[in-house]
Amino acid sequence: MRGLCGLEEGVVNMVRVVMLSPPGAGKGTHGRWLTQQTGAAHISSGDLLRAEVARRSPLGQQVAAYTARGDLVPDELIFSILIPAVVAAIRDTGGYVLDGFPRTMAQAQRAAELGAELSLTTEGVVYLTAPEEELVSRLLDRAGRDGRTDDRLEVIRHRLAVFARETAPLVNYYRGRGILLELSTDRPEAEVQADLRDWLLLIKSL
Ligand code: ADP
Repeated sequence: MRGLCGLEEGVVNMVRVVMLSPPGAGKGTHGRWLTQQTGAAHISSGDLLRAEVARRSPLGQQVAAYTARGDLVPDELIFSILIPAVVAAIRDTGGYVLDGFPRTMAQAQRAAELGAELSLTTEGVVYLTAPEEELVSRLLDRAGRDGRTDDRLEVIRHRLAVFARETAPLVNYYRGRGILLELSTDRPEAEVQADLRDWLLLIKSL
């Protein structure tokens, strides 16, 4: 079967990508698109946490208060759910599109160590941006559709502040490692996808 731009599917599904973006910039949408294009597993830390909360598992009960407030869940709890998911993704698909992880410097360092241990380091990091008021309005729209309890104005503002404080430093960390692609999503989705496609072909040809 042929996947992205006519390449053999096996060639591109080895992709290992991190989506890094503030809430509302489109990491879910574009992360899913990358998954469809490459066959690599889409791993959304937020979706995994919401599933645990919904089924009231012990982990779900521990994380519910953090996610409802828009605070980050402690790193150890995140590792307990993310590391097995990443290992399974690599085993099953040969790659991953990580959506929402890592989100702190400690998480990024742990992810890098694990990648080095498995000889499967991240090949590229996609940093999606949009003006803050656009992010807020997208999230408020989504609240009407998806009913996420953290898509309320005060919680949205708090999540954006948490992003600026905890996650934004990762942008320079990955830029310094030479694997960052910064893209504005304040334009038609097809244009963003065209840039992502060019970038995927570039990183796979290196
Ligand atoms: P968004 O990017 O729109 O805030 P996510 O679905 O990625 O949405 O995350 C929702 C919530 O899940 C976050 O506000 C946070 O509470 C928790 N969360 C997700 N990923 C992580 C992570 N890597 N570390 C800590 N908390 C996380």
